[in-house]
Amino acid sequence: MGWDTRRVLPPDNHVHSEWSYDTFGRTSMVAACQRAADLGLPAIAFTEHLDFADYGEGDAIAGTGITPGWWDAMRPLAVDGYLASIEECRHRFRSLRILTGVEAGEPHLFAGSVRAVLAVGRFDRVLGSLHALAWEGRMVNSSRLLRLLPPAEAMRRYLAEVVKVIEGSDVFEVLAHLDYPRRQWPGTAGAFAESDFEEEYRAVLRALARSGRVLEINTFSPVWPVTLLRWWRQEGGTAVSFGSDAHVPGRVADKFPEAVAVAEAAGFSRGREPTDFWRC
Ligand SMILES: [Zn+2]
Ligand SMILES: [Zn+2]
Repeated sequence: MGWDTRRVLPPDNHVHSEWSYDTFGRTSMVAACQRAADLGLPAIAFTEHLDFADYGEGDAIAGTGITPGWWDAMRPLAVDGYLASIEECRHRFRSLRILTGVEAGEPHLFAGSVRAVLAVGRFDRVLGSLHALAWEGRMVNSSRLLRLLPPAEAMRRYLAEVVKVIEGSDVFEVLAHLDYPRRQWPGTAGAFAESDFEEEYRAVLRALARSGRVLEINTFSPVWPVTLLRWWRQEGGTAVSFGSDAHVPGRVADKFPEAVAVAEAAGFSRGREPTDFWRC
């Protein structure tokens, strides 16, 4: 019963389970694996949140006077329980490749804390992401910044900070949701157009390509126009990863056919192994 390789979707390299503090009982690793198996996905990666409400040794934020912790729901990742759960699912879903992972938030500010977690186990997929920015002495969710500042200014600040994330951290391999605040783009600001921020997007893509890393196509965010992936290639990018950022089982691999069509139109294609990133 071989795969029809032309029709198999890419791996979902960005999924959250009950081990992420912000899923609030709405999902489970077992249910997400079942969904992935039903869809015929070759692989699924559980990239649980690694956000820090406090700083530890080796964290750059310690010297800044900025108060960490932008959401009181934040909890540390229970690594042992998480890894045991992965093992259990690998036994239960033998035809599915189940990858470990984390989504390290603001890794340029929490290098020491991130490394301490990564040292405990083997993590196949390490995503780097920016959710929060410093504002008046404390970290705030970037979507809040869209209401505190003119939205275009908030977006520019965000993209400029993503460059610092890339240049200030080498712990991650894949840059997650590079334009995260656009999910909350206010209707009053008019339609969001990537072309309004071309220079800022290109600066991020250039820094990412220069460091040899992978760009995530995040389908929790609106699917990008092909133009953005062309910018990625023009700036030297060679690889993309697909991530649903699902926090409920029903969203695993959500909108992947659309995302695949955009990636293919930009010249990216699947690798030899089903778990490979797509390359051009
Ligand atoms: Zn995220
Ligand atoms: Zn996520």
